[in-house]
Amino acid sequence: MTPIEILDHLEQLYPDAWCELNHKNAYELTIAVLLSAQTTDISVNKVTPLLFEKYPSVYELSQASLKDVENILKTLGLYRNKAKNIITLAKQVIENFDGEIPDNQTDLVTLAGIGRKSANVVVSCWYGVPAIAVDTHVSRVSKRLRLAYANDDVNVIERKLNRKFPKDRWSKAHHTMIFFGRYQCKAKNPDCLDCPFKSFCREYPNQKHRFE
Ligand code: SF4
Repeated sequence: MTPIEILDHLEQLYPDAWCELNHKNAYELTIAVLLSAQTTDISVNKVTPLLFEKYPSVYELSQASLKDVENILKTLGLYRNKAKNIITLAKQVIENFDGEIPDNQTDLVTLAGIGRKSANVVVSCWYGVPAIAVDTHVSRVSKRLRLAYANDDVNVIERKLNRKFPKDRWSKAHHTMIFFGRYQCKAKNPDCLDCPFKSFCREYPNQKHRFE
């Protein structure tokens, strides 16, 4: 199966795949993406309504008390660090970008707690810039589907996916791969039975005994 055929199948499986972090603007998306590190989107969506009600923009958040933000985020892993980072990020956006969340990866990665993966999510989901953010799901799925080697790091995987998929499909590819990894091709006990990629999947030989 060619990379394009893989992408076609993924899009058929998850035609509505898109960002599952609730947000209304670039500020909310950026904060939600930062908070989602090593935690689920569902957990983030539980804390952001109160956070954004109390701190609706970078201006309020930049003035927030660390203790109050920690209290709102306390159900999330690494919440102390995340609380510190989002307040710093708000100050940086005001000081360096006139209060506007940057629309490009180069500027976004200068913000506290924002790495390349998070920057790619923000530019693709909010600003419509084609980008593939390689998270744990995209990484696992890429390796299993032989779009990358088993020991490739996230930067190499991103470059390979960018080369193999047409640019106008990058953002959608990112979301369909996440949905496939999250709901079917899970790290443990993937649902291989009806998977269209069994014939060439790198992981299927290790899993097929579960279905025999
Ligand atoms: S066969 Fe199983 S492990 Fe392989 S891609 Fe499909 S769901 Fe994932």
